[in-house]
Amino acid sequence: MKVTNFAPGPTPVPDRVVRKMSEPVLTHRSSEFSGLLRQVTSGLQHVFQTENDVLVLTASGSGAMEAAVVNLLSPGDRVLAISGGKFGSRWVELCETFGLDALTLDVAWGKAADPDEIDRILAERGPFEAVLATHSETSTGVLHDIEALGNVVRGHGCYFVVDAISGLGANELKTDEWHVDVALTGSQKALMVPPGLAFISVSERAWKGIERNTLPSYYLNLKRARDSFSKGLTPYTPAVSLLMGLAESLRMMKELGLEDIYRIHERNALVTRAGVAALGLRVFAQRPSNVLTSVSMPPGIDGSELLKTIKQDCGVTIANGMEHFRGKYIRIAHLGYDIAPSDMLVALSALEHGLSRHGYAFESGAGIAAAQRVILETG
Ligand SMILES: *Cc1c(COP(=O)(O)O)cnc(C)c1O
Repeated sequence: MKVTNFAPGPTPVPDRVVRKMSEPVLTHRSSEFSGLLRQVTSGLQHVFQTENDVLVLTASGSGAMEAAVVNLLSPGDRVLAISGGKFGSRWVELCETFGLDALTLDVAWGKAADPDEIDRILAERGPFEAVLATHSETSTGVLHDIEALGNVVRGHGCYFVVDAISGLGANELKTDEWHVDVALTGSQKALMVPPGLAFISVSERAWKGIERNTLPSYYLNLKRARDSFSKGLTPYTPAVSLLMGLAESLRMMKELGLEDIYRIHERNALVTRAGVAALGLRVFAQRPSNVLTSVSMPPGIDGSELLKTIKQDCGVTIANGMEHFRGKYIRIAHLGYDIAPSDMLVALSALEHGLSRHGYAFESGAGIAAAQRVILETG
């Protein structure tokens, strides 16, 4: 049976992108490759909304997180790591791994970081070299207020580093305007390319920090990457086929325009949330991202069992809650510029099926009907 996937990455890859990736592999020491790299870099600057350098690493998104830490920071540096879920806690693990003096702000899962609280911490417990944050926390479905946080962090003169792996290209992120010194993402989320590439933007300010940094790095060294990129090269053999696909995906994103891409995500999120609400269910995230909708399970329903039923009976996969929230909520992704509102009806109908199989009382079809109303109203 064909399985339709509503997990927040890897996202489905559009046909145009698949076709580009099946073309003969360019050698990475050729003028054709240099042209491809320049085209990709400029397309990424458009999506990142930045004039800063954007570098491509052959790694998953976490490789760019590690690159941010090992290039910008030095052992003993005091940093504030904001952790409101599994991916925020990856910042904490990276700080521990590399001997940074990290203060962790544990935001309750499902909640967004409060900019006023960050302001207070930076004033009272500082000085800090950097603040590490998450744009869209994929484990909980929360969108953090990067604009407000960026203003606060810049006010204290710290570097602002943002994991935008699922959010960039789905929810607005104005890298330059919002004072984000380092923003990073991966290929397999909103950019709709298979996994294997990571992208990292570095501000002029952050390059100054990189100049004084003492942590060693080799493969993930950003200065070396910048030197090569300025000559139309990469320091090591890149994942050329993925770059060919990426160029096509960035072209599609340019054709659509960023505003329309945000609108597509917003519409699919609204459709999904309306369906969920009409079933009498609650969204787990207090400040929901347009990447995914996290749905709290009603009393007596085990989310893990529900998802098993949905996959077996309907050929639909929906993501589970993570860590201590496994089974407590489920995560329906609507990530990618190529996802249609009708796709969300498939997810909602599978959800209704699972709920009814597990004995939850609701009016059959209510979720679909509410979602269809939003499709009509927002069309
Ligand atoms: C997917 C994701 C990651 C992990 O990225 P990998 O590509 O698996 O290394 C980190 N942070 C966020 C917010 C994510 O969505």
